[in-house]
Parts: sequence; C-alpha cells; structure tokens
Amino acid sequence: MLHQAIIIVGGGPVGLSLALMLNRQGKRVTVIDAGLDKSSDGRVLALSHASCQILAELGAWNPSTKSVTAINTVQISHAGLGISQIKAEQLDLATLGYTINYAEVCQQLLTQVLSCLDINLITAQVNKVAHNSSYALVEYSRDGENHLLTCDLLVMAEGGKLLADVDKKIAHDYRQQALISHVKTKQAHRNVAYERFAGRGPLVLLPYQDHYVAVWSLPTELAEEFISHPDHLIDALNEDFTARLGGATLLQAPISFPLRLIQTKQRVDKRMVLVGNSAQIVHPVSAQGLNLGLRDACVLSELLAVKTEIVPEDLHQYDELRNRDANAVIGFTHFLATKLEKRSFLHDHLRGCGLIGLSNLPILQNMIARSLIFGV
Ligand SMILES: Cc1cc2nc3c(=O)[nH]c(=O)nc-3n(C[C@H](O)[C@H](O)[C@H](O)COP(=O)(O)OP(=O)(O)OC[C@H]3O[C@@H](n4cnc5c(N)ncnc54)[C@H](O)[C@@H]3O)c2cc1C
Repeated sequence: MLHQAIIIVGGGPVGLSLALMLNRQGKRVTVIDAGLDKSSDGRVLALSHASCQILAELGAWNPSTKSVTAINTVQISHAGLGISQIKAEQLDLATLGYTINYAEVCQQLLTQVLSCLDINLITAQVNKVAHNSSYALVEYSRDGENHLLTCDLLVMAEGGKLLADVDKKIAHDYRQQALISHVKTKQAHRNVAYERFAGRGPLVLLPYQDHYVAVWSLPTELAEEFISHPDHLIDALNEDFTARLGGATLLQAPISFPLRLIQTKQRVDKRMVLVGNSAQIVHPVSAQGLNLGLRDACVLSELLAVKTEIVPEDLHQYDELRNRDANAVIGFTHFLATKLEKRSFLHDHLRGCGLIGLSNLPILQNMIARSLIFGV
C-alpha cells in the first residue's frame, strides 16, 4: 500500500485549485477524480473579482477569451417596489466579476494541473475513505480493480457526494430546481446582471457572451413544466422580467439542478478536511458557491504553507477561520432564496422598503457587495 503526503478526493474547481496552491508550496499532492471531462455540465457561473484573481494567480484565468464575460453592474429588484444597483466603479473595481461556464473553469485548471509533474492525477472512483489521528485511508476502483492508498492529510473536495451522511449543521431541501436557460433579449446586455424577485422564484440573469443565461429557482413542478413546454418558460420570463429588455427568445433547451442548503457540522475531523461543496452547498441565488469554495482552498493552503509536518490539532484553526465567511454567505443567501420571495401585502411592502432602503444606503450596499466579492 502506497503512502502519500496529501490526497485530494475530487478534482472539481476547488480540488484542482487547492492542488495547484499546494504544489506551489513544493508539496506533493495526489488528486483522485471520477470524471474530469465536464463538457456535459451546462452550468454558467458568476465568479467574483476576487475569485478571478485567485484563478489568475494559478494561471487558470484568461479574461480576454470569448468564453468569459464581464459583469460591471448588478441590479436587484422585485415586482412592485424597490431597485438597488451596485456598480463596479462604486467599489473602485474595473469589474464586479465575470461569467464563465463550469466546464471551462475546470478545463483551465486541469491544463495547469497536467503541466505540474508533482501532482499525481488519478482518474478513478473513490469508494471509501477512513481516517484516524495517525493517517487516512482511501479506497478507489479503476478498471475493475480496487486500490488502497494511505496519506497524512485527506482533503475531501468531492462536492459532498461520498460523504453524504456526514453530520450536518444545516440540511434544507428548497424543493426547487435551478432552471438554466440561454436566452437572447432584444436589448443587448451591456454587462449588467439582474436579480429579480417577482414571486415565482428568484431569477438571476447573467450576461454571457452575446446573450443572457437565466438561472431561475422554481418549485420543482413548475421547473418540470417549463422543461416540457419551453414556450411557457419564455412567456413567464417575459412576464416577470425580460419584456423590459425587449423580450426574450430561447437559444437552447433548458436544463435543471435540484437545490439544497447543506452545511456540515465540522470541516475538520482528525486527518480529514472538507473544502468547497463538501463543506457547504448554497442556493445559487447569490452566485456564491464556488467563490466560497475557492476561499476555503486559499485559507487551507495558507495554513499548510507554514507546516512541514501535518499535525491534526493544527488543522482545527481552518474550521474557525472559515466559519464567519461561510455563515455570512449562507445566512444572506438563504434570506434571498426564501424571505424575499414570500408573498403577502405586508411582506411586499417591507421588501420594497428594504430594497429602497438599501439603494439609499450606499455604505450598507458597499458592505454587502464587498463581503460577497471578497468574503467576510
Ligand atoms: C445551478 C447552479 C448555479 C451555480 N452558480 C454559481 C455561481 O454563479 N457562482 C458560484 O460561485 N457558484 C455557483 N454554483 C455553485 C458551484 O457550482 C459549486 O459551488 C462548485 O462547483 C463547487 O466546486 P467543488 O469543486 O467543491 O465541487 P464540484 O464542482 O461538485 O466537484 C466535485 C468533484 O468531485 C468528483 N467526485 C465526486 N464524487 C467522487 C468520488 N466518489 N470519487 C472521485 N471523484 C468524485 C466529481 O467528479 C467532481 O469533479 C452554482 C451551482 C449550481 C447547481
């Protein structure tokens, strides 16, 4: 049985970013992933300015290609009252962030990983992990054969799939699907992203290449109806928002993802550490999941940078360091996903006042924007 220093289970964007960060510290890392080809994943992500900087430092970001689109303004509104707008220049930034598809982020990172001789990349399904205070063990299968590895540190970056039954602090099923559709509006996007709360479910419109990607979080039955009847989807989109952009037409068949909120009780247990979606899964309404995961990777790699030997007690700091940021993003995102969509006269009124209040309070607006862009 081979012994490794660090094994990362999961080569999604967070696992691969962490592998590159640790490689730059001269650490030997093994990454095991079940499927590195992400071309069939239709997600388009909004990445904050800070996340793009992290990827750029890893050599995995090229803003001049056609595959990324800048977001310069975010406008938040709801049917009735209240519009709040955040512009990049208010924060002294050139852009608030960019949109890029998930497969492209993974591919850029993978290209960098493949160029690092010290990163051992294994394409295999991990079936089981175990750990104690002396070492961790990983069992994976490849070509019908089972293999075992041991390591000093096991990082779980598998998106929470393998560790589905780990103790949770929060486990909430939104009973919603995120319906993703590429739509072209008569009015060009001018690098403006919209978040719209109109009653059916939070709608996010992201500028992407020459069109918009609509991420609409809808009750499951409604999402299924829209998948079967895309003409109903377009009617509803126009009714709730896109009519004001001149009307929308659908560019490709919509796809959907089930939505949950998960936060694990602990990110560290003996020699095992959780990062990214393995530690928390958030609603996409505030486009924060990967941003949060990349900050997990940064903090863990900074902690490990000063260690030559991995001692479990030292890792507990990582949990403490990540709590504030994760809790703030989870609280804010859950509020947007649930409270702003409730329908009642009083709620509508308060919601409108809240958003109007926000637009009249640039300091508060800047604070919220800064925490979403840079973390708490
Ligand atoms: C609809 C939608 C929209 C989103 N929009 C945004 C957004 O705009 N901005 C944003 O920041 N975030 C967004 N997110 C969240 C973002 O996609 C995730 O936070 C991010 O992908 C998490 O990355 P990860 O590397 O932790 O996990 P994942 O991306 O889930 O990667 C996990 C990896 O582990 C591998 N794996 C899993 N199980 C095993 C196993 N047993 N053995 C080996 N390998 C395994 C998988 O193959 C995969 O490569 C969105 C999510 C959804 C669903």
